[in-house]
Amino acid sequence: MLTQLCFASNNAHKLDEIRPLLPAGLTLLSLADIGCHEELPETQDTLEGNARQKAEYVRQHYGVACFADDTGLEVTALNGEPGVYSARYAGPQRRAEDNVAKLLQELRGAADRSARFRTVVALAQADGSVHEFAGEVAGHITEEAHGTGGFGYDPVFVPAEGDGRSFAEMSSTEKNRISHRARAVAGLLAFLKQE
Ligand code: IMP
Repeated sequence: MLTQLCFASNNAHKLDEIRPLLPAGLTLLSLADIGCHEELPETQDTLEGNARQKAEYVRQHYGVACFADDTGLEVTALNGEPGVYSARYAGPQRRAEDNVAKLLQELRGAADRSARFRTVVALAQADGSVHEFAGEVAGHITEEAHGTGGFGYDPVFVPAEGDGRSFAEMSSTEKNRISHRARAVAGLLAFLKQE
């Protein structure tokens, strides 16, 4: 039975979202916890490719079982953009405020504001095998930012299954009930349970 699993991220928001989802007895290690301080390679042009690349890098260089995620916001009126380029949408500085401002600008006057978040989680196991799990949530992009919680595009994303609040207006527990990442992680946990 696995007792420790590295999550290839130092994003405190993501670590806080995922920790409560794990069963008792399975400790989540961040990159800092395993002494990994370099930037992970993320040079693929699909969510699947990037998640896999990050998880395999950590497994190869640090010798621990590891999972990584890659998330994209896919906007219908923008033909699925920014997608895999969501983090760098407004430029290499990767600033959430800039990305959100650009998105709102691109969607100004758009009748169709539907979008979805899609996450792919890749698990690189100690034996060299890799498994992928996907999760998504549908919703729409608001005309202005709402709320101060969460991160990234949360202030402008309202999930279809919610009560009209943006992800940034929800608690972490509420977001976790329906989020793309929680759904992908649920697939990962179901897999680990039957291992
Ligand atoms: P990454 O795959 O986690 O690097 O995320 C790609 C981009 O999507 C970054 O700009 C993130 O801020 C954003 N993002 C990832 N997950 C979420 C989320 O749960 N809510 C809002 N934005 C997110």
